Amino acid sequence: MKYTSTRGGMVAKPFTEILLGGLADDGGLAVPDHYPKLSQADLQAMRGMNYRELAFEVISRFATDIPADDLKAIINKTYTAKTFGSEEITPVTTLEPGLHILGLSYGPTLAFKDVAMQLLGNLFEYALAKDRAELNILGGTSGDTGSAAEYAMRGKRGIRVFMLSPLGKMSPFQTAQMYSLQDPNIFNIAVTAPFDACQDMVKAVSNDLVFKEKYRIGTVNSINWARVVAQAVYYFQTYFALTQGNDEQVSFAVPSGNFGNVCAGHIAHQMGLPIAKLIVATNENDVLDEFFRTGVYRPRPETLHTSSPSMDITKASNFERFVYDLVGRDAKVLKGLWQQLEKDGYFDLSQTPYFARVQEFGLASDASKHADRIATIRRIYQQYGVVIDPHTADGIKAGLEHREAGIPLVCLETALPAKFEETIREALGRNPERPAGYENIESLPQRFDTLPPQVDRLKAYIAARVPA
Ligand SMILES: *Cc1c(COP(=O)(O)O)cnc(C)c1O
Repeated sequence: MKYTSTRGGMVAKPFTEILLGGLADDGGLAVPDHYPKLSQADLQAMRGMNYRELAFEVISRFATDIPADDLKAIINKTYTAKTFGSEEITPVTTLEPGLHILGLSYGPTLAFKDVAMQLLGNLFEYALAKDRAELNILGGTSGDTGSAAEYAMRGKRGIRVFMLSPLGKMSPFQTAQMYSLQDPNIFNIAVTAPFDACQDMVKAVSNDLVFKEKYRIGTVNSINWARVVAQAVYYFQTYFALTQGNDEQVSFAVPSGNFGNVCAGHIAHQMGLPIAKLIVATNENDVLDEFFRTGVYRPRPETLHTSSPSMDITKASNFERFVYDLVGRDAKVLKGLWQQLEKDGYFDLSQTPYFARVQEFGLASDASKHADRIATIRRIYQQYGVVIDPHTADGIKAGLEHREAGIPLVCLETALPAKFEETIREALGRNPERPAGYENIESLPQRFDTLPPQVDRLKAYIAARVPA
């Protein structure tokens, strides 16, 4: 299996060579040169496998240059009941016959990003050890991604994490989750400025190619291909858990931001998993919903701050991988669309044969507003006695909009309600329960350094901690 760029300007590379990289040199995203197709016999053999076995079946088809025994060891070390709370790793709960919640949030940071990020930490450590290399991960976070990255990379050999966050702007729970880490390879940097300033500082350092090279700076952003592939595994697991035979279909509703999670569902579908629909749920930042309704993709100039904050995006970075498939994996056409995006701020597929493929691929969409979120949290609690988080609420609303008789609907739970107390209080008049071990997280000692929003200060901070 080799990887090329969606825009056609990258020599084909194996999995381990794109593992640590970000964007391809031509600005595109790495994509596999084909999707491995699973036969009926393959699917039958996978039925009954546990999470780790399934993960190997799926990921080994994409990571063909990692020896099977090594990959197995990495997977077995990652997906344990100790880290994810149960042997199922991502357990399914049934609300009523035909309506289910897929629990993706039982990892260390209580959000779905752990599922992929925990694997990434072990893959990075493995790849770096092979080359006796080091990597310094630089990122900015307003909450979920940064903490998932820190918990995945803590204690890993050859890796340091420099994570910028806006001082005093995250919830006390999120702040405590990150700043309570005491691992010497994790550096929390509280910036005395809003989140956008953190992002600008990260960009400025990453654009200084001399500094970047000298201090071996990398990222763990959502376009990382290994992250996307790792997420395909739970679509398989859930499908097998809810069906008796491979002629049945299942639909999934996915709370979406950068389109990584739903892209993983699309990959599972392209590999031959019988998925009826993939329902993309957005919040008020509805750029994806607009595309699936109208064929027009128009990233927004401004991000709206909503009560499902992890879905607050203006442009969906993984969406380019999906559009690449829509246009028949033609890099020239894709490149043309992105050039138009750059020039005009949008592209419109509505009058092209490509847009019809959206149906063929099973994609549908819906958007929620704050009031919908609150109403859904309330209704699911009243009807089923289950407390859901605001992102999951957006997913459930969208799923129910597109539910079809006779086809099980699975709504992906992307975070636990404990992370979003304020919204749960508004909906239910009380705080959500905290999982065991997180009760007093705010009172743990915190370890972080404070910096002003100055790029030079950040560079000096890194230089003082990384051997040149
Ligand atoms: C990141 C995140 C999402 C969005 O997932 P994408 O893969 O970016 O589409 C949804 N919900 C939660 C809680 C998240 O952390």
